[in-house]
Amino acid sequence: MKRPILTFFNFSIFTLLFLLSCTANSQTNGSDEDTLVVDTPQVHHLSLLFAGDLMQHGPQIKGALQADGTYDYTECFRFMKQEISEADVAIVNFETTLAEKPYTGYPTFSAPDEFLRDCKKAGFDIMLTANNHSCDKGKKGIERTIMMMDSLHVPHLGSYVDEAARKEQYPFLLEKNGFRIVLLNYTYGTNGIPVPKPNIINTIDTLQIRKDIRAAKAMNPDAIIAFMHWGVEYTIRPIASQVTMADWLLRQGVTHIIGGHPHVVEPIELREDANGDKHVVAYSLGNFVSNQSQEYTYGGMLVKLDLEKDTTTRVSDCNYSLFFVTRPVMSGHKQHRVYPVSIPDSLITPAEARLRDTFVNSIRPFFEKNNKNVHEVMTFDISSFLEEDE
Ligand SMILES: [Zn+2]
Repeated sequence: MKRPILTFFNFSIFTLLFLLSCTANSQTNGSDEDTLVVDTPQVHHLSLLFAGDLMQHGPQIKGALQADGTYDYTECFRFMKQEISEADVAIVNFETTLAEKPYTGYPTFSAPDEFLRDCKKAGFDIMLTANNHSCDKGKKGIERTIMMMDSLHVPHLGSYVDEAARKEQYPFLLEKNGFRIVLLNYTYGTNGIPVPKPNIINTIDTLQIRKDIRAAKAMNPDAIIAFMHWGVEYTIRPIASQVTMADWLLRQGVTHIIGGHPHVVEPIELREDANGDKHVVAYSLGNFVSNQSQEYTYGGMLVKLDLEKDTTTRVSDCNYSLFFVTRPVMSGHKQHRVYPVSIPDSLITPAEARLRDTFVNSIRPFFEKNNKNVHEVMTFDISSFLEEDE
């Protein structure tokens, strides 16, 4: 029997296979030793959903009041629950306090605890608490809101009982599906109400933000997302300071920026940098729910950001869906209902359909002109909704 001769060619193949087996964690198939299966790196996926401002005006509180004196918001979110819950992580701005009775709407908000419970039931996973209403009920409002979120196991960021708590909990690290995402949250101010000591509300202070971004980077994240409460109310175009701040945040190393506060939607763009990395800048998502009815305020958008990760982390998709809030009068009170714009006419009244059409017919042409590299999706799935309803 001839001894096998290791030619240069064979040697090269052997070396290549050996190297592949070392670098790519190869497996040989036991039944056929000549077969070499090379594993590709595992790809992780993460779907994030962002919603705007959860407001609690007086009529919303009245509308949620039940005959037995408790509050229930299930109906309000019923048609949005599916879409929100489908995301791996849904993040929303909680723009009221939980400061117990007397419950109050504008201008200083205190909502029933059931509001938080039902927001969680609707699928929201993480609450942002740095906004201009954080100090509406002083120290009690800040601390009780935090306490309620902790007791209902709702992760939150933006306001803190004191510096020690902030140090321990901020920047906020979200770990999910093999991703490490750092979340930041800041507000332009607190309506002139001083922040009670020793509480902390994260405000837009570039020196502090720079420090926080440095701390965020040290956490070795796949992405840093900054949630900014900024801009001018009822303005559908971002003002210069939002644009300047967004550019600055991206230069500092923030990956994506999600804004709120104007009570109306503002444009959204997916920017690509010199390295080919993509960055979402959504200037304002509008209200998620409110009692407001002025032009645009009763509509808003959900932004969906899909990430994928193997050896690098990438944006695999970014899109948005539109929704609108109606206020049907039932049992003598205004009720509030959030509907996706893709809801079939058969499930809403002709007046609600007209309201939806007014919103989409004005916002879509504006978005077409001003949004960049993002697309609207129609998400409402009537079949699974009806199944769930049975
Ligand atoms: Zn606000």
